[in-house]
Order: sequence, then structure tokens, then C-alpha cells
Amino acid sequence: GMPVCECNSCFGGPNCSEVIAGCPADVNSGDPLFLEPFWMQRAASSAVLIAGWHRMSYSFNDNSSISQELEKHIRKVHAMVKNAVTDRFIVFGAGSTQLLNAAVHALSMDNSSPPSAVVASVPFYPSYKQQTDFFSSLGYKFYGDTSMRKNPSDVLMNAIEFVTSPNNPDGKLRKKVLKGESVRAIHDHAYYWPHFTGIPTPADEDIMIFTLSKLTGHAGTRFGWALIKDEAVYRRMLTYSDESCYGVSRDTQVRALKLLKVVLEGEGRELFTFGYKTMKDRWEKLSQALSFSKLFSIQDIAPVYCSFFQGIRDPSPAFAWFKCEREEDKDCYTVLRDAGIIGRKGTLFGAESCYVRLSLITRQDDFELLLRQINKLVAEKG
Ligand code: PMP
Repeated sequence: GMPVCECNSCFGGPNCSEVIAGCPADVNSGDPLFLEPFWMQRAASSAVLIAGWHRMSYSFNDNSSISQELEKHIRKVHAMVKNAVTDRFIVFGAGSTQLLNAAVHALSMDNSSPPSAVVASVPFYPSYKQQTDFFSSLGYKFYGDTSMRKNPSDVLMNAIEFVTSPNNPDGKLRKKVLKGESVRAIHDHAYYWPHFTGIPTPADEDIMIFTLSKLTGHAGTRFGWALIKDEAVYRRMLTYSDESCYGVSRDTQVRALKLLKVVLEGEGRELFTFGYKTMKDRWEKLSQALSFSKLFSIQDIAPVYCSFFQGIRDPSPAFAWFKCEREEDKDCYTVLRDAGIIGRKGTLFGAESCYVRLSLITRQDDFELLLRQINKLVAEKG
């Protein structure tokens, strides 16, 4: 018989095309489901079947917790996309989330006068603060914005700077801002893929963190990796992983390998063309919807040269960094919520309440609902 499908949350009717009245566009989460159709078209070639006897051991044949085959494929993907140099050590993590704190831990151990000040430039990805506070340690402390080292003595403090490029929430390509020998950086390149930005040059920093979540969209697989220049830092991050969970699930590694093999098909053209087109189309439509508005705006993003697509590329960011311009709308989250749009509060990113992050990496129908509500808001308010 016909497959029975469930409708997405705000849709009903026989073929899920009717919007349920009053249902808000939920664009709070960064769940990267925009890539679902790509994998539906490759349901068979991307499937994994693991026999009951397979991968039972703690270790791979070489006695490590890391699949050499997967490591090799990660290097191949970077070489193909030209987004990172790979003559580095690699550590795997349960998502890149686990690697963020592993890196803070590893770098803080170099500091003979702890704590190290963990900083990031506003607006920053909220986990840097939440995680650093949660794992609260004598070795490090979250300090907030890179400009917030208020006391003169703080300037002397060793710092660990999170550099997110492209940035979550605003999609900007960023460089480390703090200077000096006592500053170590963790480069979070979760979005440094052709779906979301032009790739001008391969990243070549000391610690570079990537995630399968934003490359293939498999956030639930929980797989990330770090490319690390310094051997001592690499060893400490590996110890962190061994001590907390003895490495990443071997089943996860099997699935990640299968997915990367599909990514590599056709020199990556298929996945990245799909991703770029989808994201660019969404950005164009949203920009157009807001182009005549005086009350609401989204960030400017400059076109960037992409060595992967070999040309200048239009913007295609993962998120819109939405701003309510009027003083009376400064609780922008509530203004949007009243208009049927659930975003993420700017204050979580260390920014003012006139900003809200809107996810553009949702399923297509969720994006279309967002667009519908934005058009309605602009038509009503201007
Ligand atoms: N870094 C950034 C900048 C992110 O946006 C995210 C996910 N939203 C992550 C890291 C963590 O992703 P994951 O744990 O799924 O790899």
C-alpha cells in the first residue's frame, strides 16, 4: 500500500499542504534538516547495515578507538573542498560539542597561572559560555566578550579565544581578535562548508573543529573531529575523550564513514550544489521579503570567492540575525513571537534584545512558513 507519512508540526490535510491556523514557524533550533531530501534521494546508497557480530570490540584492529579508514576519508573530504589543511593530528568527538570543552581543557593546562579566561566575540554561539560554566574548573573561567577584559590585570591573564568562522549566528567569516603570546585560539569551523559560505582559503589554524552535523546534516549521529597541530594538545584532547567515554561510538564511526563516501561522490558537486542552492534561495527570499522594511532587518553578508566552486558566490548563511530597529520593538523575540515566529533570543548570544536568530537550515516547509509569517509581519507593520 501507500506509505503513510506524518505531517510536520504545522501542517495537516490529506497531503500535508494545509497550514494549521495559528501555528507558529518554529525556527529556534539549528537542526540541519534542510539536507533531508538529498539523503532521501540516496536512501539505498547511504544506508548502513551492521551485522550483530560486527564492531563488538572496544577497539579497531590496530588497538585504537579511532577508525583509520574514517580518518583517511575526513582528510580526503577536506582536500576536495580545500577548506582545511590536514597535515595534523585528528581527535574524534561525540559531536563537535564534546571537542569544544576538550580543547578548552587541553589549552588551559599550558597555563602556569590559572585560570585561563575563555572568551569569544559577541554575538557568539551560546554553548561556549554554557559549557565552560557547566564544567567549571580551576583551570578556566568564561569571561564573555573579547573586549570585556575590563581590569588592567586581566590583560595579563592567559586567554583562550573561541573563533567561529563562519560565525553562528551572523554568518560572518571571522579571525582571531586578541593578540599576544598568551592567547590561544580554538577555531570552530562547523559552518566552513560550501553550503553556507564561499571557501576563500584552506583553514590553517592550531586547533580546528568540524562536525558532521553541518556537513551532511546528521546531527543525531553525534560526530565531530578536531584537527590539531600541537602534539601535546592532541594528547590531552585524546586523554579527555578516553577518560570520559573511551572514544566515539564505533557504530557512529561506521555510519560517518558511509556518509562521507557519498559526500565524496562526483567530487562533492552533488551535496554542495544541493546545499548551496537551497541556502542561497532561502536567503534571497528572506532578503526580498525584508528589502522594503524600515522596522526589521537582517545582517549584510558580502559575496565571497569560493575556491571550491571557483567563483564569487552569493550569500547563503545558516542563520538570519534578525533585528528590530525601533526602540519600542526592542524585545524583538516577543515581537516575532506575537507574529507567529519562534526564534532564539539575541541575549543568549551575548547581544542586545533587539536581535533574534532565525534558523534557515530547517525543513523546506518550516522555511516557507517562516517566509509567510515574515511577509505578513512586514505587510501589517511596514
Ligand atoms: N559549533 C557551532 C558554531 C554550532 O553552531 C554547533 C551546533 N549548532 C556546534 C558547534 C555543535 O554541533 P555538534 O555537537 O552537533 O557537532
